[in-house]
Order: sequence, then structure tokens, then C-alpha cells
Amino acid sequence: MHAFIIGIGDELTLGQTVDTNSSWLSEQLMALGIPVLAHLVVPDDRAATAAAIRQAAAAAELTIVTGGLGPTQDDLTRDALADAAGAPLEERPDALAAVAAWFKHHQRTMSASNRVQALCPRGSDWLDNDCGTAPGLRVRIGQATVYAFPGVPREMKSMFLRHLAPTLAAQSGRVILTRTIRTFGEGESQLGERLGELMRRGGNPVVGTTVSLGVVSVRVRSEASTLAEAEAALQATVAEIQTRLGELIYGADDDTLARAVGRLLKERGMTLATAESCTGGGVAAQITDIPGASAWFRGGWVVYSNALKTSALGVPTELIAKDGSVSESVARAMAAGALARGGADCALALTGIAGPDGGTVDKPVGTVWIALAMPGAGGPPVITAQRVLFPGDRAAVRDRAGKTALNMLRQALLRGGGA
Ligand code: AMP
Ligand code: MG
Repeated sequence: MHAFIIGIGDELTLGQTVDTNSSWLSEQLMALGIPVLAHLVVPDDRAATAAAIRQAAAAAELTIVTGGLGPTQDDLTRDALADAAGAPLEERPDALAAVAAWFKHHQRTMSASNRVQALCPRGSDWLDNDCGTAPGLRVRIGQATVYAFPGVPREMKSMFLRHLAPTLAAQSGRVILTRTIRTFGEGESQLGERLGELMRRGGNPVVGTTVSLGVVSVRVRSEASTLAEAEAALQATVAEIQTRLGELIYGADDDTLARAVGRLLKERGMTLATAESCTGGGVAAQITDIPGASAWFRGGWVVYSNALKTSALGVPTELIAKDGSVSESVARAMAAGALARGGADCALALTGIAGPDGGTVDKPVGTVWIALAMPGAGGPPVITAQRVLFPGDRAAVRDRAGKTALNMLRQALLRGGGA
């Protein structure tokens, strides 16, 4: 079985709303072993929608349409379905009763326009909607079955899961599982070399890489006739990838570097403080995105001016005068200050030139000094510092600097720093 997905709405073709319905449905169908041939997006236009439905029904056994089932003038999916099926629309008393019952239950007045939501192409089935007024529709067109769900993502998902997923799961003899492994610190091509033959095309499980905002992700897709087989093959491939990539891997699926750092600090019962100049608190923001970060994050300083670097963190004015605010000595002093004044076990400090202005020959835009303070083995804290030159615009430099700092801390913790 193959599927087609059609998104309907002017807001989609105008680019005002991103068609998240189709990507969600594709993921669901893929997990059920049903390949999706194409996504179509059409405006609120009866003829365009009918043409898209005809095209889909001719190409695939399953078509899912989302949007355009509301009660207003621009909701034309019902009419288009009737056109494509060559069947007239008729009012279904039971569908009308369901729409009316929804309004009664929610103590709202049903307007006359809602009556159109009970119109169904002759020969179709209507599908009840447990979180909104618009019933869905199931229509046979030739050999194909076309499902129409409301555009509101929450309603669409609920209806897909109730009305369609169980049937598809029962029919499909294939299971597809995916895992995304997140890495930081090496480029896509170097990672590709480490992965070697695991990435060969047409393999199963198939392994591929993508890069976004400095994070290289390794996607693994395992296909088998049973869940147990798909899971076993996925696990074996993931284990092999872990062996080859080692500590470049910080997590899987929705993991972030900050979350990975948080896990390690929590395991070790350690705390962190931050001192940020060029990232303006971006590192602290990423950390505090994580629920429960208070267990391991003391807090941080945004020390943008030289004066505040000195007054808030005790960075000696002579250092700033001698080496400049973007320098190894200042980054180290910031880390030392944050560590002592934050009462933390570890501290991260960043000072750099995010641009577009402010670069010099010696310190071009993108130059960032990152310092990390970690507990020494029984002695005073050990501070390490790294100079990095990040490519890209201001946003890219700030983003990559923050991630690099978190990754430095992550690797230090993995290598036993402070253990
Ligand atoms: P409709 O069912 O066409 O009245 O759509 C109701 C609302 O659902 C729209 O205003 C959009 O905000 C949202 N919506 C419709 N189609 C999609 C889609 N393909 N992806 C994400 N949101 C959508
Ligand atoms: Mg619409």
C-alpha cells in the first residue's frame, strides 16, 4: 500500500502556516510501513482540491486530506470530494445530530452555517470528531480510499489515531523504526568516514546523516516484518554507531547538549555557573530550558561591558587593558570569577566577537575564547581555555560558541573531570 497526503488551505500555499499535518502523518505512516508517495498542498479552491484528490486516488490506495472541513465559505473539501467521487452531497441526519451534540455538550449555540458540516458525498462514511465540530469523511474513489480530516492539528491527530491507525496497523505486514543519534564536534564528512559501510545506500537498517546548527545527526531506519526484528536490527546498528562515534554522541532524538550536560552533572552531584559576554546569556537560557535544571545550575552572569567583567566577576582591569576583552586571560579570569562567586563546582566562560563589526586582523569576527573551570584532583580548580574561530553570521557564531562551550564541559565530565 502507498499513500498520498494533501494539505488544503490558502494559509499553507501563502506560506503563512507550515504544513505540519503532512509531516506528522508521513511519520505515522512510515512507522506503519506505508510509504508516502507525495505531499500536495493546494489552496482553498474547489477545482484545485478536486484535481489533487483525483491525482492522489489514481496513484495510491490511501489518500489523507487535511483542512477545509470547517463551516465557512472557504471550506470546500466536502464539495471537492463529492466532485472527485462523482457523487452528490447529501445531509446525514446522524452526522447533523453529532455536530449538534458537540455544541450542546460545550454549551455553545450552533449557527446555521454549521449545518454544512453534516453534508457527505453519497456512499461515503462520516467519522466522528471527539475534539471539534467538523466530522471527517471516508470516501471510496475507484480502488482508493480517501480520508478527510480537519486541519486543526490536534483534531487531525486524534482522528487519525482513532479512525485510521488501528486499521492500517492490522493490514500492514511491515514495521519501520527510526532513531536519531545526535553528535557534536566533528563535521559531517569526517563522521561519514567513521560510519563507513554502515551508510551504504539500500542497506537495512539504513543510516544517513544530516547537519543542522552545528549538530550532525545520524538517522537510523530499520525495517522488518515484526516489531521484534526491527527493534533487534535497530539496536545492533545503534550499538555499532556508538562504538564508532564514541563520545562525539551526546544523545538521541530530542536531546540537547545542555540536557546531556545536565544529566552528567546530576550523576556526579556537581553544579555549574556561567559567565557570558558574546552569547549574552544564551548558554544559561539553554540550560534553564530544562525542567529541574536548578538541581545543577547555580546561575550565570551576562558581563557585556569591561566594567561589569571587573565589578561582577573580579576580572583585573590590567588584564583587559593588556590582552583585550576577547583573550585567553580574560576568559580564564571570567571562569575563575564565576566559579568562586557562583559557589559552583564547574564554570564556563565565553568572550568573543560575534560581529558583524568589531573584528581585527588578529581577532577576526567569529573569534571566541571559551574557558572551563573544573575541580582539580584535591587541589585548586583547573582552568582550560580554547580559542575557536566560528564561521557564519552573528547568530551562527553565538549559537556555535554556546554549543562548543557545553560540549567542552560534557567531554571534560566524561573524561572524569571532577569525578
Ligand atoms: P481548517 O480545517 O482548514 O479550517 O483549518 C483549521 C486550522 O488548522 C487552520 O487555520 C490552520 O491553523 C490549521 N491547519 C490547517 N491545515 C494545516 C496543516 N496542514 N498543517 C498545520 N496546520 C494546519
Ligand atoms: Mg482552512
